[in-house]
This record gives sequence, structure tokens and C-alpha cells, in this order.
Amino acid sequence: MIPTANLAALLLHAARRHPDGPALIWRDQTWRWADCLDRVTRAAAGLRAAGIEAGDRVLIHSRNSNAMFESMWAAWMIGAVWVPTNFRLTPPEAAYLAESSGARAHLIDAAFPDHAAALRAANPSHRLTVALGGPLDGADADWDALAAHPSPLDTPVDVDRDHPCWFFYTSGTTGRPKAGTLTHGQMNFIVANHLSDLMPGLTHRDASLVVAPLSHGAGVHQLSPAARGAPTILMPSERLDVAEAWRLVERHRVTNMFTVPTILTMLTRDASVDQYDHSSLRYVIYAGAPMYRADQIHALRKLGPVLVQYYGMGEVTGAITVLPPHWHTTEDDPAFPLASCGYPRTGMDIAILGPDGAVLPTGETGVIGVRGPGVFAGYHGNDAATRDAFAHGWFATGDVGHMDARGFVYLTGRASDMYISGGSNVYPREIEEALLLHDAVAEACVLGLPHPKWGEGGVAVIVARAPVAEAALRAHLEGRLARYKWPHRFVFWDALPRSAYGKVPKRDVRARLIEQGVGFDQDA
Ligand code: ATP
Ligand code: MG
Repeated sequence: MIPTANLAALLLHAARRHPDGPALIWRDQTWRWADCLDRVTRAAAGLRAAGIEAGDRVLIHSRNSNAMFESMWAAWMIGAVWVPTNFRLTPPEAAYLAESSGARAHLIDAAFPDHAAALRAANPSHRLTVALGGPLDGADADWDALAAHPSPLDTPVDVDRDHPCWFFYTSGTTGRPKAGTLTHGQMNFIVANHLSDLMPGLTHRDASLVVAPLSHGAGVHQLSPAARGAPTILMPSERLDVAEAWRLVERHRVTNMFTVPTILTMLTRDASVDQYDHSSLRYVIYAGAPMYRADQIHALRKLGPVLVQYYGMGEVTGAITVLPPHWHTTEDDPAFPLASCGYPRTGMDIAILGPDGAVLPTGETGVIGVRGPGVFAGYHGNDAATRDAFAHGWFATGDVGHMDARGFVYLTGRASDMYISGGSNVYPREIEEALLLHDAVAEACVLGLPHPKWGEGGVAVIVARAPVAEAALRAHLEGRLARYKWPHRFVFWDALPRSAYGKVPKRDVRARLIEQGVGFDQDA
């Protein structure tokens, strides 16, 4: 076989065992594993002929497409680092990723000519722009031409386990995005871990639907079906067609799918969920953000015991905890274990850390620390952030929570969102959850602002779906939340700002509140 830690070996193995089996289904076109290997090995040779070498960064700014799927294998084949961006980023935002990653090649979706120019201008390491899916001004090459290179690369470059494979940029929810360096060894671990903990029993007869952009968790997810020779059915990432998703599930007898909470909620709250046969589903995986309890219960009722939640982030290749289908139950106790994001994934150690980095006893609340083979190798070009992230040998996630005696982890919120009011720690997520239980509340965002009496006071920004008075919201919190957690002030907005990842960047909300003069100083 192929004696290398190079992740691209997975593709070669799949193509040897299942040359005629479907590898990728995209817009009603199917590539067999042999076709996929052929295009990838040619594109790899094409990239190399264009001067891209082992260790070079290959940035891709694209919506989901067959080229996006192929590009990561091609980059890995030559030992280059795959650097996917979120295609929703603006040109200057994406340019920051190009520059900070020092990418040599930019693979750009032809739909984004402004990005092509902005990235090129911002990044002094840039040597090559490749157009994906059509012509692009200023491009040096075209992906389909690369994928037709006359002499394919036969074997992946031999790399060791520590060789970088993927720069997994964080979402930038709490600051500028940071490039978590993931190695071939870490990625191999996660593929095995996904197969054991998220989708046990997966074979080449399974089919995987990807209903999220490949640039993030979905890209990691679909490596596991590939390792078994099972096909990936890819959906467009720019617009969610819910009925089409269910149609694809029925048509391809999809057994597993990867998505994020907001999309899962849209999928299961749409009438089309009942119009197509989804009985083939065994694993419906969601991760990346909190999912509201009511939405979880609804999804559970619609799909049955197939939900798999995991908690993670780019820095740990996604793997920290898992809540598998048989623990997705509310039968025994309404608060358990749906309130939990699951127990530690195989091979990952979790500790709850105190302010000094010491491990806290069971049940106490602190920052979640992680150790294990999935933990990243540091932030590229950001030693200070890397140092800050590791406390006493643990990767400090920045998320706060506790673990019960059975090992289930409960997330309270992000450490950076916590504020201290009257000497008590307040975690906005808990308050947001409580407010969202009110029928008139569509969205809620709580944060702390300086308060002359309490140190910090809570402000709740509410997006209402029906007129609602502040007094009604206060009455709603009665009995649900301790008084000291009640927001001191309620503000009503038409919408909350959202990042390209669909998350609410609290610093933007804070800035807007300050701009609007919402604060407590005048009360002093
Ligand atoms: P940045 O690190 O740049 O501020 P980010 O942390 O939002 O951005 P990601 O790595 O995409 O970037 O997201 C990871 C975060 O998402 C976790 O730290 C956690 O707060 C949240 N998260 C992930 N999975 C879950 C889950 N199952 N339930 C609740 N929150 C989750
Ligand atoms: Mg983060």
C-alpha cells in the first residue's frame, strides 16, 4: 500500500478498492472514485508544474463545488496546506486570510472577481491564481485545465505526521480569525474518531449528504465517508433548498448527513421533511453552535433517534465531545441529557480549568480544557495567541462549562461573553435561552456594559416577532432565572448582526449599543 501519513492516501485507497463506486455527486453529475483520483492526481501535477511545493499554502475561496472537493486532495497530494475561507467573507476579510496564511496559490470561484483582485493585492506571497468554475480576470490558470494535466502524480508526497495539512481558520466571533494549524497526523486521528464515535459501522454502501460549506466542519466530516469509499452528495452552500435536501436524501438513500444547528432547524421545521422518505438516515450530525432545546426536540420527533451532536472547534479538529443518538432522549429527565453536548470523544481528555489553570473538581464550572491527539499544533504566525491558548498543557477552549459525575459536559457559554454583575458571574447564553422561550422573542443577545453600581449590568437586545413589552419579558423571567441574572435593560432591534458563519459577534452588538448611547452611566 502507500506508506505515508499523507491524508491523500485515503483517496488512493478508496479508488483502489472501489474504482467504479460513486465518490462525489454534485448537481446531478457523478464522479466515480477512479474519476476523482484521475482529476486529483492531474490537478496535483498541474499545481506542482505551476510552482506550488510541499509546505506551500493553497487558499481556496469558493462555494461548494466538485473543484472544492478535489482541491483539498490535490493540495495534500503534493504536501501543500489547504486553506479554505468562508465564501461569505467580504474581499477585505478574505484578503486578511490570504495575507496571514502567506498563501502562494489562490483558487478562486469565478463568481468572486473582486475577491480575486483584493486577495492578490493584499498578499505578497501570492504567485498563482486559479479560476474555478469559469473564467476570471487576471487568473493564471483554470482548475479544469489543471485537472487535465498530461502526467498525473502517481503517489502522494511522503510527509510525516507533523506536516501541516489544513489551516483551519476560526470564525472570528471573538476577534480576528486565527489560523489553527492541523497536521496530517491530527487529521488522520479525526477521520478514525469520526468513524468510531459519530458514524460507527459506516461502509462504502453508505451515502453522505453535506448540507454546509466544505470550508469548515463539513470538509472534515466528509473525509470519513471517503475513507470507507462511500459517496459524498454535495449541496450548494450559497442557498439552502430545503426540499431539495430531502429529495436528495430519498433519491440517494442517504444514511448520514452533516449540518449546523440553524440549518438542521430549517430542515426539520419545513413541511418538506414529511414529503420525502428519510427512513434511510442513521446519523444526522450537527455541531458548531448551540442548538435551542425546542428545536432539538422538534428535530428528534421528526427524524427519530438519529441525531448526533458534537462540540468542538477548528483548534481540536472538531473533536471534544459527542452526544450520540441513544443519548438524545428526554424520556427520563427533561433536563438530561439534551442539555449536555455529550461526553468526551475517544482519545480526548477533558478537564474543567480554574482561573489559575488548575483542574477543578467534578461539577464545578470553569473553562473547558482539552488534551489529546486531535489538538492542533498552534496558530500560524501568532505565537502570542498560541501561548495564551495553552494553559498548563491543556488547550483552553475559551468555552465555560462543567462536567457531571458521568462525564457529560454542559456548556454555559464563552468565557469572553461572561460579565460580572454585583460580584456574580453571569453567562449571557443562559439568559438568551430563557428569553427565547417567550413566544414573541425571535432572537436575543445579552451582554454586559459598565454599570456604576453593579460593576457591569446586562443589556438584552431583543428581535421580536410580535409586539412585546419589557414588563412581559421580566414577568417571563420570574421563576426561570435568578434575579441577579435579569438584564437591567431591554433594547429592541429589527435584526442582530451576524458573521459570515451565522454567529452573532458580540463586539459588533456592543459597538452599536455604545454608538446608540445605550449604557448605564447616565443612571449614576
Ligand atoms: P473565534 O475563535 O475566532 O472567536 P469561533 O470560536 O466562533 O470564532 P469556531 O471554531 O468556528 O469559531 O467555533 C467554535 C465555537 O463554537 C466553540 O468554541 C463553541 O463556543 C461553539 N460551539 C461549537 N460546537 C458547539 C455545540 N455543540 N454547542 C454549543 N456551542 C458550540
Ligand atoms: Mg474560537
